[in-house]
Amino acid sequence: MLDLLLHRAQVATKLFSISKWLGMCNRAQLAHKYFTMNRLNKHDRVFVLTGAGVSAESGLPTFRGMNGLWRGYRVEDVATPEAFSADPVLVWQFYSERRQRHQTVVPNPAHYALAELERKLGDGFFLCTQNVDSLHEQAGSRRVLHMHGRIMQSRCSSPACTAAPFDDGNSYRTREEIPRCVACGALIRPHICWFGEVPFEMDLVLHQLGEATLVLVVGSSGVVEPAASFVRIARRGGARTVYVGPEVPANHGYFDEVLEGKAGEMLPSFVKLLLG
Ligand code: NAD
Repeated sequence: MLDLLLHRAQVATKLFSISKWLGMCNRAQLAHKYFTMNRLNKHDRVFVLTGAGVSAESGLPTFRGMNGLWRGYRVEDVATPEAFSADPVLVWQFYSERRQRHQTVVPNPAHYALAELERKLGDGFFLCTQNVDSLHEQAGSRRVLHMHGRIMQSRCSSPACTAAPFDDGNSYRTREEIPRCVACGALIRPHICWFGEVPFEMDLVLHQLGEATLVLVVGSSGVVEPAASFVRIARRGGARTVYVGPEVPANHGYFDEVLEGKAGEMLPSFVKLLLG
């Protein structure tokens, strides 16, 4: 733990330009300073954004982990409304495979650490995920905003239909198997925000970003919008911003601190630091 604190303190030294006084401290003092800097107080509000990377250690590959390809198709060409209109069977085959895979995975220490943070902070904690899996919920997180939808839900494909999304873990591999909406008769589609569509509940997300004093982003490449801009918005509002992941994200310029490493290895210690 002391080594982790020391490593983080060294990162902080660069970031906060406090090298002079830190230079005068010994290892334990250095660790203590960093510990104090990170410990949350009762006024803090934590906004967490997770991306595909938080689930990578559970065995769900990121898009880049799949080389962005599925059966030779670019994921961006399968996960769109246009692809569904042109070939709903192909799109359902893609999601059916993923549904089966998602049923076999379990949360990793990163999911559990975030569930613990929520338990301790209550209303001072907000979790927004780009992921469509249910690993946060399986780890005990109670309030998770899935801005890109949920793989285990489906809904009517007609934008005019008001029928609500529903739980659905089924696989559909032929045209005949794809169900139709009981309200309007249109084809049922996965409850996923596809490329070119607007993510869910953005008003709530923007409100929570405005309230946040700490924004923690985990395992998100910083390429996919609008999530990639959250850190910039939060930074403008005065929040401290921290990234956790094995690679520096594309939007790294907006982070006060980048903690390089796997989420499952880094987050449990970092959450301990935050909770003091
Ligand atoms: P991305 O694939 O663009 O980037 C994933 C990021 O995770 C990368 O920066 C990578 O360095 C990082 N990463 C890899 N292993 C990690 C680990 N062990 N710990 C922490 N970080 C790690 O993913 P994205 O930025 O989230 O955006 C792509 C979209 O893909 C998302 O909108 C999401 O909906 C979708 N997606 C979801 C899942 C899922 O639900 N599990 C899986 C794949 C893709």
